[in-house]
Amino acid sequence: MICVSITAETNAAAQEALRAAADAGDIAEWRLDYLEEPPDLERVLARKPCPVICTNRPVREGGRAVGSEARRIETLRQAAACGADYVDIELDSAHLLPDAGPARRIVSYHNFAETPENLPEVLARIKAAGADIAKLATYANSLSDNARMLELVRGADPPVIGVCMGELGQASRILTCRFGGFLTFASLAPGAESAPGQVPAEEMRRFYRVPEHTPHTAIYGVIGDPIGHSMSPAIFNEAFKALGIDAVYLAFRVTDVADFIDLFKRLGMRGCSVTIPHKQTILPFMDEVDDLVRRIGAMNTVAVRDGRLFGTNTDLLAALSGIEEALARGGSEGLEGKSALLIGAGGAGRAIAFGLVDRGARLTIANRTRAKADALAEELGCESIPLEDIRNWRGDVLVNATSVGMHPREDASPAPAEMIRPGMVVFDAVYNPMETKLLREAAARGAATVSGFDMFVKQAAAQFELWFDRPAPAEVMARVVGERLRRAGR
Ligand code: NAP
Repeated sequence: MICVSITAETNAAAQEALRAAADAGDIAEWRLDYLEEPPDLERVLARKPCPVICTNRPVREGGRAVGSEARRIETLRQAAACGADYVDIELDSAHLLPDAGPARRIVSYHNFAETPENLPEVLARIKAAGADIAKLATYANSLSDNARMLELVRGADPPVIGVCMGELGQASRILTCRFGGFLTFASLAPGAESAPGQVPAEEMRRFYRVPEHTPHTAIYGVIGDPIGHSMSPAIFNEAFKALGIDAVYLAFRVTDVADFIDLFKRLGMRGCSVTIPHKQTILPFMDEVDDLVRRIGAMNTVAVRDGRLFGTNTDLLAALSGIEEALARGGSEGLEGKSALLIGAGGAGRAIAFGLVDRGARLTIANRTRAKADALAEELGCESIPLEDIRNWRGDVLVNATSVGMHPREDASPAPAEMIRPGMVVFDAVYNPMETKLLREAAARGAATVSGFDMFVKQAAAQFELWFDRPAPAEVMARVVGERLRRAGR
């Protein structure tokens, strides 16, 4: 169940918010402590459009209720008498409201500093207080705090509402129902959160499909730092929805890879995407990596095979297949023997360089920091040239693996237009904007172009195929990326 928190300051606004909450969620939590006037319990609860939890949180537990404890508890008692389906009473005050009449008692524990080690002991105390429903909301200081909370929720009696607060705790909010949690809290809209880390109800329902989660829902995700900008959750959740796959995909901002791997294993995750800055640092945590990953030293995909963590790199295959398809359209058979110029020697450049050499291309590398191009060329046994000399280069395939031309510097190109000849294949790893200046100029000069957009969709589709062993809905994935980029005006 999705429970929408209502933080209205007037009774009229609360009444209106309850109607919106009934549309967005399954149940509402009316935070009486946010009211700036006395609660009109009889009137508001008489017209409730969905089940309602009444909460009157004191300041010491992160709420706003001031005044005497006796009055605070009396308000809850009246709420129960006026038709609240549940009343939330804090563990340390539970003895003051041992019976809530027709309403069920949620006995709650909050900790805004940490997720303490003794969660099972706290749950036992809540149970001893006679709770119909136990609630534990604690602050996550690590990703594995989510795992401890979800392990507590699984199969608990009485039913438990168990969530971690804060940015690191968001996974527990999205996954708690998957683990048997009684409900998860959500905000009515961004900015209307009643606790840190709450996700809007609409997002919980339509994007993460929380009401459909079962103990069998497979968990995937992407790790990186920062991660807020990632399009991967939208791509994969839409793909799952389109194919009716019982799976969910989350974004994890990860600063400590070991902490994430602990969470991955404890939640029984089936796979994840890996982005900057963890493409290298995650390698030591794999049980097995493929040969190319071992040589490149970077990966972007984790899959679980026979219970073991397997690392691979779909970025590279996606870039190469786009180039090979463009060559094939021009009547060439593949990269073997083709001369290729790669501009860039960062993470993407390094992977693409290995792939090109592996496919038998004659590679030349240029990079702003010449020493990096030289080192990579030496490692691969190929040639490097100064960036200033690329205008004289003649060959079959030109690859940009720098960030030049990327939003907001869309007027820049890494290569002079004059060096582009008809029949050449020009690949730009930049996907934002979808058509870069380099690709525009290349198309105008008769070259075949391959966009970073194409690579981005292909690398995600390859991850999907690795995880599910079935064709990816590439058109859905491309639509999602395209819509996101267009919405951002690119
Ligand atoms: P990275 O490791 O930070 O490398 C950046 C590269 O760009 C380096 O070679 C850097 O040269 C060069 N560079 C940066 N600013 C430059 C400038 N003003 N002039 C010339 N060269 C410049 O980043 P990365 O992960 O390799 O990513 C590179 C690009 O590929 C980004 O645009 C990224 O979005 C894109 N990418 C796309 C996909 C996809 O799926 N389409 C996947 C991965 C990456 P120095 O060595 O001199 O700093």
